[in-house]
Amino acid sequence: MVAVKPEYLTEYIRSHNDIHAFGNFPESPRVLELALQDENLPDEEIALTPADRKIVLTTLRKRSRDASFQSRVLNAYSYSYSCAMCNVQLRLIDAAHILPVEIDGSSDETFNGIALCAIHHRAYDRALVTFNEDFQVRLNDNRLESLEKEKLGGGTKEFRAGLRPLINLPPSRRDRPHPEYIAKANLLRGWAR
Ligand SMILES: [Zn+2]
Repeated sequence: MVAVKPEYLTEYIRSHNDIHAFGNFPESPRVLELALQDENLPDEEIALTPADRKIVLTTLRKRSRDASFQSRVLNAYSYSYSCAMCNVQLRLIDAAHILPVEIDGSSDETFNGIALCAIHHRAYDRALVTFNEDFQVRLNDNRLESLEKEKLGGGTKEFRAGLRPLINLPPSRRDRPHPEYIAKANLLRGWAR
C-alpha cells in the first residue's frame, strides 16, 4: 500500500521502480524518508544502506529536489501561471534554473529559478534571450542574424514582438531572481554586460 501526495503523483510514477528497488530491509523506509527530507543527512545514516542502493538513493534525492524546485518556483509565480517573458499560460510553464544546476555555485533556491514557457526556457538555455539584473529582457541579435543567414530565421518578428520589456516578477521579493545568479548565468552564456 502506497500513499502519494497529489502534487508528487507524476514524480511517483516516474520514480516508483527506484523507490521500490530501494528494498525491504528494516531500515529502508526510515533512511529513505530521512534522506529525501534532509540532504545533509549524515553519511553514517546512509551507510546503513547497502552500496548498490546508494545509487538509487542519489537518483531519488535528485528527483525529489527537482520536484521541490519545480513546485516552489511555479508557486512563486503562480498568481498567473504564465511565462515571465511572454505571459503565455496554456499549461506550458517550466521552472527554469537561472544558473544551470551542473555549474559550481548553482543551487535549487527559488531565487535561482524563473517560470518560463517551453519556448523561452529553451531560448534562455541557448542564450537566444536573457534578462539582466534590472530584469530587462534582452535578445541576442548576433545569434538571430546568423540564424537568418542560415535561412533559419523564420518567426523572428513574432518572437521579438512576443517578449515583454521586463520579466514578470514573483510578488514575494525573496523569490525574485537573485542578481548574483543572473550575472553569473549571463557571463556563463557569453552575454556582454
Ligand atoms: Zn514565454
